[in-house]
Parts: sequence; structure tokens; C-alpha cells
Amino acid sequence: VRTRGRATSDAGHGWMAMTLRIVADWIACDGRGVCAELFPERITLDEWGFPIISGAAITPELEPHARRAVAACPLLALKLIRD
Ligand code: SF4
Repeated sequence: VRTRGRATSDAGHGWMAMTLRIVADWIACDGRGVCAELFPERITLDEWGFPIISGAAITPELEPHARRAVAACPLLALKLIRD
């Protein structure tokens, strides 16, 4: 699912599709898995407890859950990006 966002073109009045995804900083992450508990729709854990993050787009319905997981990460190892 794609959301729409304002384009950053010089013209400034075009539109382009933007996809919201969640990404992890693997250096910062310590693998305790809070994120997977809060956002199981896109995050599962590997056998050591580190997150496996789906590359699937985050739908508007899931965005509040994604934001909650990002906010709850104790090591600030998650962020949302639009690409
Ligand atoms: S909550 Fe943060 S530190 Fe914990 S497993 Fe998830 S990304 Fe890593």
C-alpha cells in the first residue's frame, strides 16, 4: 500500500508515491525484542532474539503500531522512513 506525499521537486506542486517502512540500527539494537511484541505485523525475532523486520510497506492502519514500537525501543534503534 502506498501513501501520497508532497514532492520535493523544484516545481513544488507535484505529487509522488511514498512508502512507509521501519528500519533498525543493528549496532544499537541489543535484541531484547520489545519491538516484536508491539509490532508483530512487521517484526518477528530470530533465534537469538534480534528483530527480523519485514520490508513490506506499513499501511496507514498499522502506522500507529509502528510508531509505538519505534517510541518504545529503549536504545532508539528503530526509525520510520519514507521512500
Ligand atoms: S526494541 Fe529496539 S533494542 Fe529491542 S530488539 Fe527491538 S530494535 Fe532492538
